[in-house]
Amino acid sequence: MFSFLKGNQRYEGKPTVLEACDLASIVKYMKSDKCKRVFIMNGAGISTSSGIPDFRSPDTGLYANLARLNLPYPEAVFEINFFRRNPKPFYMLAKELYPGNFRPTPAHSFIKVLDNHKKLVKCFTQNIDTLERRAGVPDDKLVEAHGSYASQRCIDCKRPYDAQKLKDKLYKEEVARCEKCGGLVKPDIVFFGESLPPLFHRSIPLLQSADLLIVMGTSLVVHPFASLVDLVPEDCPRLLINLEHVGDFGSRPNDVVYLGKCDDGVRELCRLLGWDKELEREWEKTKYTLERLQEDVAKTEVKEKEAEEKVSQARTDAEKEEAQKELKAAELEEKKTKEEEARIRKLRSEEEELPREVDELAKEIGESLAVSDKGDVKPEVTTGSEPEAEEEKDGTEDLKGPEGKL
Ligand SMILES: [Zn+2]
Repeated sequence: MFSFLKGNQRYEGKPTVLEACDLASIVKYMKSDKCKRVFIMNGAGISTSSGIPDFRSPDTGLYANLARLNLPYPEAVFEINFFRRNPKPFYMLAKELYPGNFRPTPAHSFIKVLDNHKKLVKCFTQNIDTLERRAGVPDDKLVEAHGSYASQRCIDCKRPYDAQKLKDKLYKEEVARCEKCGGLVKPDIVFFGESLPPLFHRSIPLLQSADLLIVMGTSLVVHPFASLVDLVPEDCPRLLINLEHVGDFGSRPNDVVYLGKCDDGVRELCRLLGWDKELEREWEKTKYTLERLQEDVAKTEVKEKEAEEKVSQARTDAEKEEAQKELKAAELEEKKTKEEEARIRKLRSEEEELPREVDELAKEIGESLAVSDKGDVKPEVTTGSEPEAEEEKDGTEDLKGPEGKL
């Protein structure tokens, strides 16, 4: 089974924690009291079924698409020095990959289900697409090792930049510049040669307490991320769900490998766990964003108005009949879209939208208190200019090699 490993690496004995090195034994273990602290590591492979281009495949991959951008070499798009000279290619790419254009996959929803069952400790992700967040995985369970679109700042003075403003700029294909120093603004995505977020380094020691590690959709070639698999205890069961064998899976007593698509792997796992309905329910919630649904509702309203007008302007009976048919169809579509919006809104409000609103309210109250404390003094506008990323620079965390991104 682990034929890809060299003879001296392969573990030949019996498993020490699991009954056998297969999915059924992992499931039995997960259902037991022994498995309380689960960690996830995931990479681009869990996002490909959502339509996000695979960053490494030379044919269909992103780097191949970058050829048309006249880059000296594809990786330049993620190099800070190139970005300084020519930010346009990255901006084009950032627009293409902007979160909201893609839907989370069942593999993302699986992470949410794991959290629903109070088993998830941390999800280490290499992805910058924020699809884990959109699947409902709470912020405090996420370690976005290569940063994400969730925040953005000036690359010089590090002053944070407004998310909506950056989005508008990206869509207009304009370059965003810092309002304070004029420096270029980019999402907090880790470029080659940049430090990984302090949260990544702070979270690593937690792996020593793992009862189970699940690795999904990563080729385990990007360091330091790839080395995390070795940091769980020697006897900790490790499950790999991936298209191919990667890393040193098979070298430890409780390694299990599922070869196949991530979505198929998590569906099989959930079926065996009896979580399959919950998985599909969680995934269903990710179908549309509310913004998208609101747009759809607005569109059907316009369509209906147009159809009404046609009816009133119809001259012959045949025209009138035709127009009324159209109106009926438009009304039906509008009704359906509105119902769908209400349904999704209800699903969301149950657990995702609500806490966020409470958070925002708390923030607003905090801000208004801060302002009233200072009397009529204007609220502080230069806070947050201290770059968090500068705190823990020890020089060891640079991404390595041309594959070191995403
Ligand atoms: Zn600046």
